[in-house]
Amino acid sequence: MCGIVGYIGPREATPVLLKGLHRLEYRGYDSAGVALVAPTGELNVYKCKGKVSDLERFLDGKDTAGTIGIAHTRWATHGVPNDVNAHPHCSESNRIALIHNGIIENFRLLKDALVENGYTFRSSTDSEVLVNLIEYIRTSNDCSLLEAVQQALKQVVGAYAIAIIEKDNPDRIIAARQSSPMVVGIGKGEYFLSSDAASIVEYTKEFVYVNDGEIAVIERDKPLKVVTLDNHKSRIDIKKLELSISQLEKGGYPHFMLKEIYEQPDTIVDCIRGRINEETLEVKLSGVIDNREKFLKARRIIFVACGTSWHAALIGEHLIESICRIPVEVEYASEFRYRNPIIYPDDIVIAVSQSGETADTLAAVELARKAGAFVFGISNVVGSSIARATDSGTYIHVGPEIGVASTKAFTGQVTVMAMLALTVARERGTISKEYHDEVARALIQLPDTLREVLKVGPQVESLAKIFTYAHHFIYLGRGENYPTALEGALKLKEISYIHAEGYPAAEMKHGPIALIDDEMPTVVIATPDHTYEKTASNIEEIKARGGRIVAVIAADDELVRRSADYTIEVPVITECLMPIVASLPLQLLAYYIAVYKGRNVDQPRNLAKSVTVE
Ligand code: GLU
Repeated sequence: MCGIVGYIGPREATPVLLKGLHRLEYRGYDSAGVALVAPTGELNVYKCKGKVSDLERFLDGKDTAGTIGIAHTRWATHGVPNDVNAHPHCSESNRIALIHNGIIENFRLLKDALVENGYTFRSSTDSEVLVNLIEYIRTSNDCSLLEAVQQALKQVVGAYAIAIIEKDNPDRIIAARQSSPMVVGIGKGEYFLSSDAASIVEYTKEFVYVNDGEIAVIERDKPLKVVTLDNHKSRIDIKKLELSISQLEKGGYPHFMLKEIYEQPDTIVDCIRGRINEETLEVKLSGVIDNREKFLKARRIIFVACGTSWHAALIGEHLIESICRIPVEVEYASEFRYRNPIIYPDDIVIAVSQSGETADTLAAVELARKAGAFVFGISNVVGSSIARATDSGTYIHVGPEIGVASTKAFTGQVTVMAMLALTVARERGTISKEYHDEVARALIQLPDTLREVLKVGPQVESLAKIFTYAHHFIYLGRGENYPTALEGALKLKEISYIHAEGYPAAEMKHGPIALIDDEMPTVVIATPDHTYEKTASNIEEIKARGGRIVAVIAADDELVRRSADYTIEVPVITECLMPIVASLPLQLLAYYIAVYKGRNVDQPRNLAKSVTVE
């Protein structure tokens, strides 16, 4: 959450910063701001409520000159989104400007102490406390800015990625991180700073990932220096990132979300590339093969995840339990980390997160590692915190996901889980060759299958028109399609703001069936599987109470077709992979309903991608 960007070099900083903010807007978009040291020596700070485009308009006619600057797009945690609470925040003397991503948990304590020492505050944010603490330490201890930052951060409890510039030094940015992402881009005679390498990839492909507890001292025309809070020098490890700009653009689609939905046949190709041998059908995830013994001996697998990744993990539970015969638990990372969970050394904990930065999942990873479990990560962003904090793992390789509502990352996660299950099952000898090959073949054919599924787009669009005015929805599924129902409901909630609940179909009669009337549509995944007949009966129960049914069915379905009011036909593949197929029409349904309701699909209210706060 929240995007931070910085620049120092020969160019004018403002255009670089604004472009970076646009690319980071998926992380937060309630207010934005920029701070620059002008050639005149002024520290100019401009900020306002709203999106980056509002900031751009606000900057019109202002003095935005300067070759050093920092900028921020906010996802408020402390204080409402308004002009004053927007970042950057200046110290009381207006000599230091700071941007912050994260939460200073002990801000109240620190603020009280500063107030006692005569400081006054303009905003309600936790971030302003930090910039004043730095200034206070600097003046009262008469030390350098770097020393003041080091001392201040030792007093801070919480999560942060911060960047600081000061009026009196137009040649230096100081940046630090603890639990929130931060990367320094190395250009020729220039440096870039960002929460996400993808946002600055058009300027450089070389990056240094700042680690927790480290401070980057970024000085004009000098080598990058990284030190710890105790001033020990860290090794500079430059990583290369290959990413094309077109992956960050909408490519002719009206929204990133629609582009990402339609990209799925190709992202699955990228996800399985090099991992399934088309001739022998052998499936190999190197992160698993390299840790063969761990997976052979695993007594239990625990998934830790949040949101959509948690739904993907529920499907992973089905896959792994049925194919590998290893007991699986699926935990919300935020609950797991505070529950004092029982973790055995022969447990494998699998952390799932698109961004690889999800704060709760990262904390769960740390907990599991401390408890001695083997920790495996499934993430999309190369070099992300979870990728670095885990013992091993695998990337889903679906390319940058910019729409806030996850689509292609979800199908990528499930695909990786299927490959993981096949790899492990083969090593453990818990799968027959026939079934192994059937699933592997279905995975190879998955891109073509999804291409076929996406043909339902226009039909789903007209269906969406009919349901735009519904206030509540229920989504039902059974078995591996129960998580598909949860995910379908979440998509609708996130972007259309319509209340939607996902349920296991048979649970309906234990309460929710009381809600059924002709104003509450029920979306049912009723594709052929071992619970198909039961689902068909559940549909009858809803019909009998006047409910309206939208059913996702197979083309040759006869039974459900007769009861449903509307049907969406999808191709049928091996049962365990059907959630991937069935989730696409649900993504489209949520998308088109949100569009008809006039919602901001890519940046829904109150949400942000990459949840780096607890
Ligand atoms: N806690 C800070 C605020 O509320 C930063 C939030 C963010 O990460 O955007 O302003």
